Amino acid sequence: MSQTAIRPLKVLIIGAGTGGLCLAHGLRSVGVAVRVFERDHTPTDRIQGYRLNISATGNRALKACLPGANYQRFVEASATSSSSVTFLDQHLKRLLRINIPPVDRASIESERPVSRIALRRVLLDGVEDLITFGRTFERYEDGPDGHVTAHFQNGLSESADLMVGADGASSRVARQLLPSAHRIDTGIVAISGRFPIDDLSKRNTPTPVFQGPTLIVGPPGVFMFASAVEYPPEADPIYDRDQYVMWGISARREDFALPSAPEHLSPEEARSVALAKMTGWAPALREMVARADPTYITAFSVKTASEVGPWRTRNVTLLGDALHNMTPFRGMGANAALYDAELLRGAIIEVANDRTALEPALATYERAMIEHGFRAVRSSLADMKLLHAEALIQRALMKAMFRLLDAAPPLQRAFRGQR
Ligand SMILES: Cc1cc2nc3c(=O)[nH]c(=O)nc-3n(C[C@H](O)[C@H](O)[C@H](O)COP(=O)(O)OP(=O)(O)OC[C@H]3O[C@@H](n4cnc5c(N)ncnc54)[C@H](O)[C@@H]3O)c2cc1C
Repeated sequence: MSQTAIRPLKVLIIGAGTGGLCLAHGLRSVGVAVRVFERDHTPTDRIQGYRLNISATGNRALKACLPGANYQRFVEASATSSSSVTFLDQHLKRLLRINIPPVDRASIESERPVSRIALRRVLLDGVEDLITFGRTFERYEDGPDGHVTAHFQNGLSESADLMVGADGASSRVARQLLPSAHRIDTGIVAISGRFPIDDLSKRNTPTPVFQGPTLIVGPPGVFMFASAVEYPPEADPIYDRDQYVMWGISARREDFALPSAPEHLSPEEARSVALAKMTGWAPALREMVARADPTYITAFSVKTASEVGPWRTRNVTLLGDALHNMTPFRGMGANAALYDAELLRGAIIEVANDRTALEPALATYERAMIEHGFRAVRSSLADMKLLHAEALIQRALMKAMFRLLDAAPPLQRAFRGQR
């Protein structure tokens, strides 16, 4: 949509992450005045090199909000799409393999694995002049003439018609807007790492990992995930072309022998903790952990947002992880943030074109965003619980269901449809 706004409207976005930058593009393209404030000092302060899987929902939002050239670069920067999803046990016995029908790489329906660095660059390109880096949001207050004023750590402030909290999982905007909203520690700890793909690692890593997401259902309560990031020859080489296998192993905190809080573990401590949990596992799986580059080994407590219903709409709103932060077990968080950005852009366009007032437009956006975002929160939590089931009977039933699906491709299609 390339309309030009007829009503002057100024929007502040707190946070230059996935959702905030997508919205900034979407608003600039229709002539809405927008400023973005980011606490990091540079665009690449904390970007970790792992990939995000962008689904059709995320593709659609990026296509709607980004200039055509940026969207094209996003497509060209993406890694090879998966051809299957495989479930194995810890001895590499196949439980289920779901084939993914090939989709044209350019199609909007194509699931696109993309490196975080590449996505960030695509999102920054063309809006860098709108962003102030090194500016940490502290609080907001009502400003003059119905405006909202954002105050920053360095004593500076900025006023606008609307402020959007796109400041991620520990959002300060959300803390002030919705003081009762909080994140719940699920009790699950995840340790993740990656190693480069070379001839040796390619030979020694289980083949399904190179075909798509591989989910290893270990002994009760233990789950491992692995996936390769490889690029087709035609991928745009100007972005990140690191080819690697990434993995994550997760279990209840008390089931890992943790010498300290997960966030305080050194990479080597985290590696040892992970390997200790994999005693008796297939050597190829243990080797993936042993081989990991320490620079990328991290451990973290898995958290999820508490559910929140619609609130009294005002000139401060939220998008993405700032409200509906979810566990990583379904890879949906970035897609949900992009979905919100597209939806909110639509609402702001209605206001900028004088078709509606700000509050009703935001109220409609918030209802849809809450409904979509918390549906994703619930389903990623349900997957987390299933994959970490500790009761032997539940584990056995899950494995039996996977084996049944493996033997019956029509049932697989129904299973995929549900997801
Ligand atoms: C291991 C792991 C794997 C994942 N894999 C996937 C996947 O495959 N697919 C998927 O869809 N999602 C995935 N996710 C989730 C995804 O990364 C997030 O849901 C997504 O990045 C959220 O986007 P956002 O724009 O809401 O927030 P973010 O991208 O986190 O951006 C928030 C921004 O706000 C800034 N900020 C924070 N506080 C302030 C402040 N006070 N003042 C100014 N700026 C501030 C931050 O520095 C940051 O730049 C994964 C997450 C994890 C942990």
